[in-house]
Amino acid sequence: MTEAKTHRFEAEVSQVLHLVINSLYSNKEIFLRELISNASDALDKLRFRAVTSPELIEGEDADLRVRIEIDAEAGTLTLSDNGVGMTEEELVENLGTVAHSGTQAFLSKLAEAKKESSGDDPQLIGQFGVGFYSAFLVADRVTVTTRSAGSRDAFRWMSDGKETFIIEGARRLEQGTDVTLHLKDDQKEYLEEYRIRGLVQRYSDYIHAPVELRVEKKDDEGGSQGWAYERLNQGTALWRKNAHDVSDDQYAEFYKHLTHDWQPPLVHQHFKIEGTQEFSGLLFIPQKPPADLFMPDAQHGVRLYVKRVFIMDDCDEVLPKWLRFVRGVVDSEDLPLNVSREILQDSRVSRTIRNQVVKQALTMIGKLEKSDDYATFWSAYGAVLKEGLHFEPEHKEKLLKLVRYESTKVEGLTSLSDYVERMPEEQDAIYYALGAARDILEHGPHLEALRERGFEVLLMTDPIDQWSVGSLNEYQNKKLVSAMDADLTVPNASEAEDSGSEEKIAELLNRFSDILREHVSEVRISKRLTSSPTCLVMPQGGLPPYLERLMRLQNEQLPAQKRILEVNPNHPLIASLSKLYQQDPKDEALTNWVELVYDQALLAEGSPIESPAVFAERMTRLMTEAAQRHVNT
Ligand code: ADP
Ligand code: MG
Repeated sequence: MTEAKTHRFEAEVSQVLHLVINSLYSNKEIFLRELISNASDALDKLRFRAVTSPELIEGEDADLRVRIEIDAEAGTLTLSDNGVGMTEEELVENLGTVAHSGTQAFLSKLAEAKKESSGDDPQLIGQFGVGFYSAFLVADRVTVTTRSAGSRDAFRWMSDGKETFIIEGARRLEQGTDVTLHLKDDQKEYLEEYRIRGLVQRYSDYIHAPVELRVEKKDDEGGSQGWAYERLNQGTALWRKNAHDVSDDQYAEFYKHLTHDWQPPLVHQHFKIEGTQEFSGLLFIPQKPPADLFMPDAQHGVRLYVKRVFIMDDCDEVLPKWLRFVRGVVDSEDLPLNVSREILQDSRVSRTIRNQVVKQALTMIGKLEKSDDYATFWSAYGAVLKEGLHFEPEHKEKLLKLVRYESTKVEGLTSLSDYVERMPEEQDAIYYALGAARDILEHGPHLEALRERGFEVLLMTDPIDQWSVGSLNEYQNKKLVSAMDADLTVPNASEAEDSGSEEKIAELLNRFSDILREHVSEVRISKRLTSSPTCLVMPQGGLPPYLERLMRLQNEQLPAQKRILEVNPNHPLIASLSKLYQQDPKDEALTNWVELVYDQALLAEGSPIESPAVFAERMTRLMTEAAQRHVNT
């Protein structure tokens, strides 16, 4: 038998232990939930391994269970499972470091929560799932005896939860794990059967495996008739129940168990599909997005079960990437138990499931749409959801009901249908402008004619909008039209009053073209400007300037795109330039001014100019001249 070895806890573990013991004093009872959850995970893992190695489960699958034993005399509470167990290395790794999920998530969530509140709010910490170490909330000594499935060797882990733990060889009849808590003197309430019953019902009722309590059977006179195991939990997988038999608290508790998130979900969706394929599911949307939401390899997907047997986490075959913020479970009746990712990828069953999961998720978001939480939802996940418009146009109709944009006519966000409702009769298109920020768009020159007509413009400031809007085309039979498009025509926009002015400035525009040949593809008269002298518009299919900049940052080879300079013939500046040109077509000052006009068109739309120094110098010269003229008069 292995000799006893003393190990030191990893520094972070000591930190967690310290926090747990000192902060959770008001909510100690959660230890039971954590230990039952670990035992149930161990059963799931064994069942999963047995799919490929059936010899690991001897006898009936139904024998997998969690047992609780109270020893009042010894003052101990023991949780036993006949699950996967742990090897010696796993014991050190799982119960001595923070390499495993639960504790690490705890630490990072704690750090995050601390940033938001200030200091160690014990109430706050109480809401986390703190895992195995919560045993030390009620015990001053914990012993774990375990035998890994398929192995003959057993080991015992012992610790007082301070700095070290001991591991030694041990004996255990079957595979699985016993966790024995030597209860602290003031925690003897957990030796009471009623207390344990209540806790299991409260926290662990949905655990699939039976959770049993060892109780003494008594005859009518109170004499002992031996021991028996009494099942405490109902054990119906929550998602298999009827929705009206499940309380909101139960959903919230299950969500916590599933995600380790300490905040309740924004919304849930519970469904059962019957027909050619049978499956049930339960979906949630967390209040806070995960940190990796926009990382290229962000994990996503739901937990997949087949006939209540856990198969895999993060199953992205049944949940598209643009719903990667959705959490939950899907349980299929039709997939084989040994299903792998490869099989899922081209299985008709998983395609059907995926399609339904998408529908259910959109219905769930639709429920949220009517609530006050929608703004929270949208700011957290809107940009992700919009990816769906681009990648899965077949769900466009539902998605279009859910999208929100900023707009020139409302303060916050608007839906497309509200926009359409506000449209004046003579407006027949939905106008939008793509740009880096609301402020820049709103004050930019492109929207002038639309504004004058009283037409509302959607302000799209998300980089994804360029792609998602590209696949939109129309909504409720109204075309979506970019305010920056070269062929924007605003119906009945006040035509240039003096049509003679166009001819006069035609020559000036030629001069503009000559001077700006390097920068623009065309110079032409504008129909969209009312108060600005010029603006730059995109040729058909062009990129908005801020996106072009973004893309050029990633790929310098990208050829610069030349845009069209539109000139407002009625603007006094253009009129004066035209006169100047008539006086002396070769005037050097004209070159300077035209370049200044171009730079100013860039600035007005929020684009950087090529040479700020040259621009500043020209401005200075102009202002000096103007100021001198003022002094003289
Ligand atoms: P989490 O459950 O979130 O991973 P815990 O702190 O609750 O974190 O548990 C740490 C690890 O210890 C688990 O991931 C698991 O590998 C192992 N473990 C705990 N309890 C058991 C058990 N009863 N049987 C097998 N392994 C266990
Ligand atoms: Mg755990």
